[in-house]
Amino acid sequence: MTAKKLVIVGGGAGGLALASKLGRKLGLSGELDIALVDKSAIHIWKPKLHEVAVGVIDQSNEGLLYRDHGLKNGYRYVRGELLQCDPMQKSIQLAPVLTKEGETLIESRQLEYDYLVLALGGTSNSFNTPGAEAHCIFLDSLDNANHFHQKLLDALLQLNETQEKLSIGIVGAGATGVELAAELHHVIESVKEYGYLNISKHHLDVHLIEASPKILPQLPEKVSARAQAVLDRIGIRLHLGVQVKEVTSEGFVTQDGDLIAASIKVWAAGVKGPKVFQHFDPLPITPRNQVEVDACMRVKGHEDIYALGDCAQLILDSGKPVPPRAQAADQMAETLYRNMLNRLKDKAEQPFVYKDYGSLVSLSRFSAVGNLMGNLRSGDFFIEGHFARLMYMSLYQRHLSSLYGWFSALVYRIAQRLLRWQRPKLKLH
Ligand SMILES: Cc1cc2nc3c(=O)[nH]c(=O)nc-3n(C[C@H](O)[C@H](O)[C@H](O)COP(=O)(O)OP(=O)(O)OC[C@H]3O[C@@H](n4cnc5c(N)ncnc54)[C@H](O)[C@@H]3O)c2cc1C
Repeated sequence: MTAKKLVIVGGGAGGLALASKLGRKLGLSGELDIALVDKSAIHIWKPKLHEVAVGVIDQSNEGLLYRDHGLKNGYRYVRGELLQCDPMQKSIQLAPVLTKEGETLIESRQLEYDYLVLALGGTSNSFNTPGAEAHCIFLDSLDNANHFHQKLLDALLQLNETQEKLSIGIVGAGATGVELAAELHHVIESVKEYGYLNISKHHLDVHLIEASPKILPQLPEKVSARAQAVLDRIGIRLHLGVQVKEVTSEGFVTQDGDLIAASIKVWAAGVKGPKVFQHFDPLPITPRNQVEVDACMRVKGHEDIYALGDCAQLILDSGKPVPPRAQAADQMAETLYRNMLNRLKDKAEQPFVYKDYGSLVSLSRFSAVGNLMGNLRSGDFFIEGHFARLMYMSLYQRHLSSLYGWFSALVYRIAQRLLRWQRPKLKLH
């Protein structure tokens, strides 16, 4: 009997975890033919993108190559960008793969499936703010993180010569904006050790602009307050309760008509589904470009198509959608893994149950803050400092365990820590 074909599109926090686990369980033995499609050749866990952007981690050391990983973990990697899906023919269409110069390397292709999983993640939401797309970097993909990194390197080079102030503006004081702001301060304090002798922290202004009256608006008051105290201490300029009306090449124009000048502009507010879903006529797509799924993560009206992570809208019994977070994508991948095994054995699939373990925000070397969910009686509790940092790192460790198995993941992490001793702490090229 020929093996059933499973195609997973998107090798991020959810899709890659699913491909790896199913691959080791059924792919290596040939019981299931698994293809993982991603437009990128390298996987970096998305919560680490701001670290790539500022150069705290180097993708050539910490990135995972899908092709090599797939070979060892029982799935086939297909480089390509999803364009369209045809549920009647049970096939997807991939865009041609082009060189940097725009020449076609691989023509547009069709891939057939028995089961399809959409795990394309999300993009930042500019809420149609004029000028945002043209002038801002959206920190939502590896390419964009690399683009920011290059701009930062250029700015440091210039700053070392001119010693004129460098102004960086970030819209959105959610976890991404806050973590990026703190990392930028850490980097500017460290560049002297790498030969940028004329630069000190006084040369950097980081503006963090947030429409809500507090930073980290989704998190409990105490977490926001502690994080804000750290940002105040290191000199981040907070603009709270400020709405950006327009972005120009000069900076951000607020609703009061003020200009917050910035030479590097980042948009880190809001999340919506991938752009490509705007043209997915056969599937139920929400106004925020997410695909609607039922409790078992099946796309509504399509028995053989599933979706998980940021690109999916799953409404919980509480009436709230599953939040766009790495822990949610990871849990969805785990449920879908078990459901796929059940489905292949003609057993019933189980509904997804979301467990909120709390939220953690890294403030670079300055601190980490967050809340952990306790039991029903004790509610959530606040954590800070080394313990919070440890918990923050455990999230990544959990992701690595899905990709490599827990033992190999542990060895991998120890090896990475040891290697970091003799590698430069910053990637400044
Ligand atoms: C800077 C930053 C920091 C964050 N920090 C945290 C945090 O601390 N804690 C937390 O819980 N969450 C955090 N998040 C959110 C978290 O990263 C996401 O919720 C999570 O990664 C979603 O997982 P996913 O599998 O749905 O998609 P992703 O991890 O985004 O993966 C999507 C994959 O799909 C691929 N893809 C996209 N479009 C196509 C296409 N058309 N064709 C083929 N492939 C495609 C992409 O290349 C990518 O590999 C952060 C996000 C960012 C951007």
